Amino acid sequence: MNQNQKIIVAIDGYSSSGKSTLAQEISKKLKYIYIDTGAMYRSIALLAIQKNVFNSDLWNITNFIPFLRNIDFQFQWNKTLNKTDFFLKKKNVQDEIRSKEVTNKVSLIARIPEIRDILTMKQRNFVNNIHNKGIIIDGRDIGNIIFPQSKLKIFMTGSIETRSYRRYQEIQKKGELDSYEEIKKNILYRDMIDISRQISPLKKPIDSIEIDNTSLNPEKQLTRVLQLIEENISSKKK
Ligand code: C5P
Repeated sequence: MNQNQKIIVAIDGYSSSGKSTLAQEISKKLKYIYIDTGAMYRSIALLAIQKNVFNSDLWNITNFIPFLRNIDFQFQWNKTLNKTDFFLKKKNVQDEIRSKEVTNKVSLIARIPEIRDILTMKQRNFVNNIHNKGIIIDGRDIGNIIFPQSKLKIFMTGSIETRSYRRYQEIQKKGELDSYEEIKKNILYRDMIDISRQISPLKKPIDSIEIDNTSLNPEKQLTRVLQLIEENISSKKK
């Protein structure tokens, strides 16, 4: 593949459908910058938990929002672990934002319009400040809202059983004790909130290519997307 030709690849899809694994692999293979928008929503959920926002009767959201306007996020390549780490206010929160508590609360945070507005702006700024580099960005609203102009949009899906089992295996590796049923319930709950929220709901972009990975292993998914990127770049040259 011609490494000088770069594009923006938008990946959307259901929870635990393998978006970030695929995005990380593409980023490694093609040296594209990876932007994990889920990490941004998760870090705001983490802050909300730390600030006790969920425990107030009225969810003290009005006081919480102004505090988010100048929030500082960074993605940094971790050479040792060969993956991207996420920093919130200069602190590596990569593990904290994957905690059970954050995972259970994040979709409630992600449906608040003011929070989506702030993150939409930040995500577009991130991309606009990257020059001459390919970008791979994943989330729920990338192809429809954040970068509708993206020439390659992927929509990832998979059966609920496959997605739950995949997540169950990841959680077990971390030594956590959640049951398969508990994990499945959380994935369904997040999907339901993401699909039904009023602003920027999760919806397959009409011009996207669907990848159903119920029975497609990570290598095959990677090969398929690399091929799509190649085709996209060649068609631009014509
Ligand atoms: O991708 P990940 O599972 O880490 O995302 C966590 C949550 O953040 C999702 O369940 C969804 O509620 C929210 N999210 C979103 N829009 C995005 C990315 C994530 O609403 N672009």
